[in-house]
Amino acid sequence: MILGHWINGRAVVDTGRLLNLTNPATGKIIRQVAAASRATVEQAIAAAEAAFPAWRDTPPLKRARVLFRFKQLLEERADEVIALITEEHGKVMDDARGEFLRGVEIVEYACGAPEFLKGEHSKNAGLFVDCWAELQPLGVVAGITPFNFPAMVPMWMYPMAIACGNTFVLKPSEKDPSASIMIAEFFKEAGFPDGVFNVVNGDKEAVDTLLTDPRVQAVSFVGSTPIAEYIYRTGTVHGKRVQALGGAKNHAVVMPDADIDNAVSALMGAAYGSCGERCMAISVAVCVGDAVADQVVGKLAERVRALRIGPGTDRNNDMGPLITTAHRDKVKGYVDLGVSEGAQLVVDGRGLRVPGHEQGFFLGGCLFDHVRPDMRIYQEEIFGPVLCVVRAESMQEAMALIDAHEYGNGTCIFTRDGGLARWFTDQIKVGMVGINVPLPVPVASHSFGGWKRSLFGDLYAYGPDSVRFYTRRKTITQRWPDDTREKAQFSFPTNH
Ligand code: NAD
Repeated sequence: MILGHWINGRAVVDTGRLLNLTNPATGKIIRQVAAASRATVEQAIAAAEAAFPAWRDTPPLKRARVLFRFKQLLEERADEVIALITEEHGKVMDDARGEFLRGVEIVEYACGAPEFLKGEHSKNAGLFVDCWAELQPLGVVAGITPFNFPAMVPMWMYPMAIACGNTFVLKPSEKDPSASIMIAEFFKEAGFPDGVFNVVNGDKEAVDTLLTDPRVQAVSFVGSTPIAEYIYRTGTVHGKRVQALGGAKNHAVVMPDADIDNAVSALMGAAYGSCGERCMAISVAVCVGDAVADQVVGKLAERVRALRIGPGTDRNNDMGPLITTAHRDKVKGYVDLGVSEGAQLVVDGRGLRVPGHEQGFFLGGCLFDHVRPDMRIYQEEIFGPVLCVVRAESMQEAMALIDAHEYGNGTCIFTRDGGLARWFTDQIKVGMVGINVPLPVPVASHSFGGWKRSLFGDLYAYGPDSVRFYTRRKTITQRWPDDTREKAQFSFPTNH
C-alpha cells in the first residue's frame, strides 16, 4: 500500500519517490509513503489559497461549529488513530492515547474562536473618534512536524490556525505520517470546505517548497534544533512569519527536602516514557548533595532494571522500541560514548533482547551516574531511554548548570520548600517549569515554548500566543463628521 497526500479534500498519490514505513516493534516494512515533489506541494498550496477567501469570510462561530464536529469525530474514531500511532511510532497505546487526547484539548480550545477573535475596542479614543483592533487571518499557513508526536504536535498548529480563518498545509514526519492522513479524512467528514486542510507527505523537497513559495504566509515548525534554525532562517528570508521549536535537554533538580520516592516515580515516567523520545523528557537529574544522589540512583536503578519493554500493542509494557534502527544505533552510540567519557553506567540496557521481536528497534533503559557538564552525553540531546545523573553541591550550582545549557525547553524542581520553588521558577532561564511536576507541558489554554536554542521566533505554540501567531492585527480609527466642515489641521492630533 502507498500512502499519498490529502489535497483539496481528496487523497492524491504521486508515485515518483517512495519512502518505506517500518513498524519499529517488528522491524518490518508495513507500507510506503509518497514523497511529494515540488509540483505536488504547489498543488496543495494552490488548493489552500483558493479555499482561503471563503473560509476567511466564514463567521468564527460557524468555523467553530465545524471544528466541534471534527472534535467529536476525533473522539469517536480515537482508537483507530491510536492504533496507527503505535504501529508506526512504537509508543505504548496508553501513551499514544495521552498524546492524542492532549491534541483534542487544543481542538476544544480552538472552538472558542468567537471569543478569542473579538479584538479590542476603544470608544471615544479622541472626541467622537473610535479606535479598534481586528485580528485578521494571514492566508495559507504551513506546519512541519516531527516523528515523536504524530498526532499531538500537528494539533498544536492546525486547529488554531484554521479557527483563526487561515487555510493549512501540513507536512508531517515521513516516519509516521498515517495518522495525519486519517485525520484529514475526518476534516472532510466534519464538513470543512475542501482545501482548508491539506497534507503533503515527504521530506526536504516538500519542506523547502513550503519555505520558499511566496503564497505561504507563515510556517510553524517543531523538530530538532539544527533543522529548526534552518527553517527559521530560510522562512524569514522568504518573508514569512516563522515559529520553530527545537530540541531539548531537560533537567530535574532533586533537593534534599524532596519526597524522594515521589521524585523517583516522576523521574521514571519522565525519563523513560515514550522511550525518552519526548521534547519534554527529563534527560538529566541534578541531585543536590551526595546523600540525595545515592538514594535517587539506588531507587532508580532498581526500577530501570524492572522496566517492561516490548511492543506498544501489549498493554503490560511500559516502553516500546525507538523509532528507527538508525536512531537506536545513535542512542546506543551515546551510551558507548558516556562510558568512554568516564561516566558510571549503573544500568546498561544495550544487551536487551525482546523475545519474538528480535528485529525490533529496542533498547533497554540506561542510567548514568557521575555525569559531568564537560561530557557530550550531558551536552547533547540523546532522545532515548538514557537518564544522566549529575551531582551538585547546592541549588545555586544546579541552577547555574541549567542556565548555562544551550537548551531551555523544560525543567522541574522536586522540593517541599515553597519559597525555594518560587525563587527557582522566577530565576531559571527555561521556558516551561514544573514544581514537583516532571513534564510541565502547558494545557491548551496556555502556550508551549522553550527559551534559548529550543525556540527560534517570538511566539509559542497553541494557546493565546497562537492567536497572535496566526493573525495579523489591523487597527482602525474612525470618525463620522457632522455638519461642521473639518479644518485642515497641521499639528499632530492629540487628546490635549
Ligand atoms: P527532525 O528535525 O529530524 O524532523 C522534523 C521535521 O523536519 C520532519 O517533518 C522532517 O521531514 C523535516 N526535516 C528533517 N530534515 C530536514 C532538512 N534537512 N530540511 C528540511 N526539512 C527537514 O526531528 P525529528 O527527529 O522528527 O523529531 C525529534 C526532534 O524534535 C527532537 O530534537 C525533539 O526534541 C524535537 N521536538 C521538539 C519539540 C518542542 O516542542 N520543542 C517537540 C517535539 C519534538
